[in-house]
Amino acid sequence: MIGDVRTLVRKVAERFKGRFYGRTFRCPVCHLELAMVDADGNRLMVCPLCGVVLDVEEIYGHAVPVVLEVELFRPQPKMRLHPLATHAPIGLYPFAVLGVGLLLAASVLAPVVPALAPLLARAPVVATATLVMLVLSVGLSSLTLASGLWDWNRRYRRRPYWQIRLKIAFSVLFLVLGGTAIALHASGAVFSASTGLVDLASPLAVVLAVAELAVLALGMVVIATLGHVGGTLVFGR
Ligand SMILES: [Zn+2]
Repeated sequence: MIGDVRTLVRKVAERFKGRFYGRTFRCPVCHLELAMVDADGNRLMVCPLCGVVLDVEEIYGHAVPVVLEVELFRPQPKMRLHPLATHAPIGLYPFAVLGVGLLLAASVLAPVVPALAPLLARAPVVATATLVMLVLSVGLSSLTLASGLWDWNRRYRRRPYWQIRLKIAFSVLFLVLGGTAIALHASGAVFSASTGLVDLASPLAVVLAVAELAVLALGMVVIATLGHVGGTLVFGR
């Protein structure tokens, strides 16, 4: 089951990569996957991970990277602020998703299982805690984006690596999705301020609850992709 999911995710990711980045190859030194489109007009490129300068030749339709030089004195990626800063939003976000999942499950179970009533009295606290997690995660992710842009400027000298372009686009997408989820959650239109639960009698509340869950789930995919791609830039493939 888990193996099937992993295969499916890998297939979707490969198709996505193929469509957006065209042909890729691996750095001959650190084996990081690099895109042909990132080479400059002279077919030269600096590997963002190990710092070798590559001349990417095309021979019989194959990309053949040749190591020309090593860019010395690069700051170590593990000691940078950005990889450390990523852990705050990535660590908090799943708890916000868990909170919304629990509140939705409680809203459905409340009329069916009366024995849950004492537990459900705590629902407003869970709804508030979930909002706090969400605001902290999305708020701190803007600092993560800023530190990432700083790193791109300094460490990578604004070179257009596809990993970094993807990360910038996905970071902005995460802020939009996170902002939408915060607005929905804080509006009180999804989880009632008095009970902390979804009013299942109201079609609007149910639709908005499904929308909030969908936005959060998409945000989870986006932030997991950000973490995965960022991880390859720090630890290699
Ligand atoms: Zn490399």
